[in-house]
Amino acid sequence: MKKSRLLLLFIPIILGIIAVTLVLSENRQSTPQNNDASESVTPEKVTIVTTLFPLYDIAKQLAADTGDVSLLLPPGVEPHSFEPTPKDITTIQNADVFIYTGNEMEPWVADIVATLPSSVIVVDASKNITLIEGEEHSHDHGGKDDHAHDKEEKNHEDHTLDPHFWLDFSNTITATNTISEALASLNTFDNTTLTTNTTNYIQQLQNLDARYSTTLGTCKNRTIVQAGHRTFGYLAKKYNLEYVTTEELSPNSEPSAQDIANLVKTIRAENAQAVFSEELIEPRIAETVSNETGVPILMLNGAHNITQAQFESNTSFITIMEDNLKNLRSGLSCD
Ligand SMILES: [Zn+2]
Repeated sequence: MKKSRLLLLFIPIILGIIAVTLVLSENRQSTPQNNDASESVTPEKVTIVTTLFPLYDIAKQLAADTGDVSLLLPPGVEPHSFEPTPKDITTIQNADVFIYTGNEMEPWVADIVATLPSSVIVVDASKNITLIEGEEHSHDHGGKDDHAHDKEEKNHEDHTLDPHFWLDFSNTITATNTISEALASLNTFDNTTLTTNTTNYIQQLQNLDARYSTTLGTCKNRTIVQAGHRTFGYLAKKYNLEYVTTEELSPNSEPSAQDIANLVKTIRAENAQAVFSEELIEPRIAETVSNETGVPILMLNGAHNITQAQFESNTSFITIMEDNLKNLRSGLSCD
């Protein structure tokens, strides 16, 4: 009896010791975290979420080791019809920086911006860039009916702006500056490093533009004929090339027989040496055109998104554009 009473007396003491131990261990766990935050010796990486590959690549080049950059699009996914999942929206809400291409490319962004916490810096990469009209696609040369058709099409697409601004490298440079300014506003980056990274990347884009300008200035064929959607309007405009495609500004799974016939007709009329295909789709239309005309198929990659294999091999925007230049040189008979 005495022993059990003694035991009862000890129970509150034992419980007290357990409680004190728990409180102490909790404090011990949280203390180092508090120290990390206050000393900011090893700050957490800045979380940057991007929508398209060119923006992803720019952010990676600028943020380097300080950024945890991700691409919202899964590898290989076509971006024009992309809609974010609830999980994607959570990813954006938890980001430090969210970079999107613009309202033309991602109309869904306007709906979610209001739902984002004020901690998320939202960057419209097309800021300070003049988008070109997207209706310059010429279906046919000559013919009264075709002229009427073009006119009708122009009216229909009066307000359609071309979202593919990154295919004029001076725009890519403007977007690089916009992204750099947004990162600088976070005060997380070492400003000297950020400035150096920005300058280096802009230099690479300027060199790329110079190589394009030199090479494309010498082409004997001056019409890019592409079985795909109208992606390279900026590039064609910049380097004074004509551009004919099967589809308009976003991919269409079923281009019309007339659009395909128009491509064949253009290849024959311009004595074109190649039909260009586009990335991330089966080149069925390009094959049809190639079979019909006997010209080879060459890839012209708009760099909207990349494949899993390209992710794993660290493909960059610059390397994609260098491959494009090789194919343009070959397909347009340039020096
Ligand atoms: Zn596109």
